Amino acid sequence: MSFTLHGIGISGGIAIGRAHLVSHAKLEVGHYAVPPHQVPEESARFENAVRTVRDELKEVRAGVPAAAPAEFAAFIDLHLMILDDSTLSVAPRRIIETEQCNAEWALKVQMDALLEQFDNIDDGYLRERKTDVLQVVERLMRALSGQPGYIPPPTADPELNLILVAHDLSPADVVQFKQHHFASFITDLGGTTSHTAVVARSLNIPSIVALHNARQLIREDEMLIVDGTQGVVIVDPDRRGLAEYELRKHEFDLGRQKLRCLRDTRCLTFDGVAVELHANIELPQDVATALDNGATGIGLFRSEFLFLNRSDLPDEDEQFEAYRQVTRDMDGLPVTIRTYDLGADKNTAEPQRFPTNPALGLRAVRLCLSDPQRFLIQLRALLRASHYGKLNILIPMIMNAAEVTQTMHLVAQAKAALDERGLPYDADVKIGGMIEVPAAALALGMFTRKLDFLSVGTNDLIQYTLAVDRTDDAVAYLYDPLHPAVLGLLAHIFRTAARARMPVALCGEMAGDVSLTRLLLGLGLRQFSMHTAHLLDVKQRVLQSNVAALKPFVTKMLRTHDPERLQELLERLNA
Ligand code: PEP
Ligand code: MG
Repeated sequence: MSFTLHGIGISGGIAIGRAHLVSHAKLEVGHYAVPPHQVPEESARFENAVRTVRDELKEVRAGVPAAAPAEFAAFIDLHLMILDDSTLSVAPRRIIETEQCNAEWALKVQMDALLEQFDNIDDGYLRERKTDVLQVVERLMRALSGQPGYIPPPTADPELNLILVAHDLSPADVVQFKQHHFASFITDLGGTTSHTAVVARSLNIPSIVALHNARQLIREDEMLIVDGTQGVVIVDPDRRGLAEYELRKHEFDLGRQKLRCLRDTRCLTFDGVAVELHANIELPQDVATALDNGATGIGLFRSEFLFLNRSDLPDEDEQFEAYRQVTRDMDGLPVTIRTYDLGADKNTAEPQRFPTNPALGLRAVRLCLSDPQRFLIQLRALLRASHYGKLNILIPMIMNAAEVTQTMHLVAQAKAALDERGLPYDADVKIGGMIEVPAAALALGMFTRKLDFLSVGTNDLIQYTLAVDRTDDAVAYLYDPLHPAVLGLLAHIFRTAARARMPVALCGEMAGDVSLTRLLLGLGLRQFSMHTAHLLDVKQRVLQSNVAALKPFVTKMLRTHDPERLQELLERLNA
């Protein structure tokens, strides 16, 4: 039966394909004590689950069509082997018996121990088998909960048009999808500017978050239409619906192709104002798409993604190679690399503290400064890479002058260390700060004298100004870039920076929202940095804009506090 689900579209376009449900074995698992007399029963329950999964896998193995790729059968065999290994089929039973706990908990404890061992393996191939262990554990968890199993594909094939359906995904999960070819992904949770959504946008596939019950209502292999622009998922569409969306998809893809001819066009407004369009990237390999979409610089390299999905920290040489690669690949164009913005919703595999309000806690520059030795490793790596092109260093979430002073002191220390080692770097490397906290925006003068440039992180600036958690879909409706307080802060930032002759960019999601391009131009922004998927749309809008004519509208927008009137003015601005 066909039905429709509504969420928040975070990346436009239409995908038509089959559902692939993903769950995460690392998700919360209940822990409860089992009375001694029930321990044999609990142990038998676990044994049953192993049997069920074995039968399921054998059944799937038998059903593999002869024409299927050979890896598919090998993949199932591998899972059977993992399942039958005593570390998975026997050890949890011992845990149930010695700790007198439920089977799910015993399995999780054993899984954690196994995964840790995998992290310490040097061989890349073997280390990758960690995912297979996780998938087998997921099957066992599902068998324990009485749900039928499923087979995740080894690597999604672009031809299959798989649509990933998840309850929730971490930014680290999403960044891993970059290596696979999914047609789309949809989740139950998530806000529009959560880091998960931000990374999802960079995949340039239609995606929707905040669907609430999608993971529960959609079945494996069910036909889905995902309209990322409207935030709508049609489950099991009828023939007419399918035909209509195929047509819309074709039109959308055609429009994208047409935009490509703007790639090398100079980005000037209609009245000749030059505008820089830079790209936001998460990994060095994203540079190719950035250039392919006409980016004239990297405005934000979120370096923290080098620290995710691993158990160790990247050392100086590894970081240096990554930063040098980006700098070299950009071939003299500016590359702004943000020092690691970890904490809040982006965490390494290191043991974590779990503060009550992680977004207000030890994240970004606060975390960098909390461990100067670790921070110095990154600063040295960045400085070394600065020798190979035009590299700028960006400090995330600055809030007070001391953070800048301390960072500058560490930069000087890193330079001295390189001098001692006789390693070259750009002595004139520019250091900028991200304006993401209202306090920093209001007291901007504190930074204009100390830094070389600023970059406005509106994702966080809005979160902190409106007290709306960007990761919480329950309050996503309150997340409003057009709130007069946000517009007022932006106007203040651009005005103050202009007076101080300080370059200022904007690298939050607002920069890639084509409906806000003219508003930002009218506010004085001349350097936008966004995910590559939006570069050409925004360029087209810039080319069709007349800054002189925009200004009076924007001045009116800054004076009104009535949301309807604001919306009306924005529509007129974009007409
Ligand atoms: C921002 O906050 O706007 C920003 C660009 O940084 P991030 O989204 O990574 O927090
Ligand atoms: Mg931020």
